[in-house]
Amino acid sequence: MLIDGHGRKVSYLRVSVTERCNFRCQYCMPEKPFSWVPKENLLSFEDLFLFIKVAIDEGITKIRITGGEPLLRSDLDKFIEMINNHKSGLDLALTTNGYLLKEAALKLKNAGLQRVNISLDSLKPSIAMQMAQKDVLTKVQEGIDEALHVGLKVKINMVPIKGINADEVLDVLEYAKQRGMSIRFIEYMENKFAKEKLQGLSALEVQAIIAQKYAFKEIGREGSSPAHLFEFEDGYRFGIIDPHKHDFCEDCNRIRLTAEGMLIPCLYFDEAMSIKDSVQKGDVQGAADILKEVLKNKPEKNKWTEDDQNETSSRAFYETGG
Ligand code: SAM
Ligand code: SF4
Repeated sequence: MLIDGHGRKVSYLRVSVTERCNFRCQYCMPEKPFSWVPKENLLSFEDLFLFIKVAIDEGITKIRITGGEPLLRSDLDKFIEMINNHKSGLDLALTTNGYLLKEAALKLKNAGLQRVNISLDSLKPSIAMQMAQKDVLTKVQEGIDEALHVGLKVKINMVPIKGINADEVLDVLEYAKQRGMSIRFIEYMENKFAKEKLQGLSALEVQAIIAQKYAFKEIGREGSSPAHLFEFEDGYRFGIIDPHKHDFCEDCNRIRLTAEGMLIPCLYFDEAMSIKDSVQKGDVQGAADILKEVLKNKPEKNKWTEDDQNETSSRAFYETGG
């Protein structure tokens, strides 16, 4: 079992397989970074897998593959299959913008993927284009349909931004509900890579919009998940992720690994340690020691606050995987 320096059990590893992306979302990567990490600096799937095996053997039970856009990395299904074959009963999931999912969904399902989170910020082609700075909606919706068709469990992620897509909260919620998908509204997290002056809807504002049309009750959080859950009278549940409140930091169970091999204990802070040398030398003990060192130094909580929008993370979401 993995326990961090604040006594929290850590069982969830998010693995970013690339920082590259085919979208330019305003809140994440509005411009192509000045320089990408050169491809030769990325860990191979074999190297990432060596660390993942160590992490699983030490107590990780849930793994999410993310990015950048993870489907840009070829043979992702083979990587998923490697992880799935290592241990049965793992909770294995993927977060994607959905653009390349139509072609990949069946292979991913056959490789052992169970769940996929798909980002969908708008149902209007022009707004989706404004948000991602590319004409994306048709392909994303085709990706969603195919994921459902092949039997993946689909969750929608939406980041409502004032003046852009905030008026679509109910539409996107209903789109998800009608298709039997859950949905998470994520409060915009300020970071220095995002377009300036973006303002996200707060968790309370999202609730107020939904309350105009539906009655719902608060269920609370499920386990260590950061999402606050709410339930309609017909049993449908939606969630809101509210990092500005940081109550979920109390039982944060997650760490993050970047495509370059940096092991990151908290989404907000810069601190990280590299597992690259250890895994490239096949040094299993070295990788396990770094994992424990990172956990020892995992911060108690993030620093986004409700009162100060200037509290800005210098971590890029496309690097950490969100
Ligand atoms: N490219 C994939 C995608 O967009 O789903 C995976 C990586 S993306 C960094 C993971 C999640 O982080 C997405 O749901 C995205 O909406 C969310 N995200 C990115 N930047 C964010 C920000 N500044 N505030 C809140 N959520 C953010
Ligand atoms: Fe790419 Fe996902 Fe970031 Fe959008 S949120 S720019 S799709 S990594």
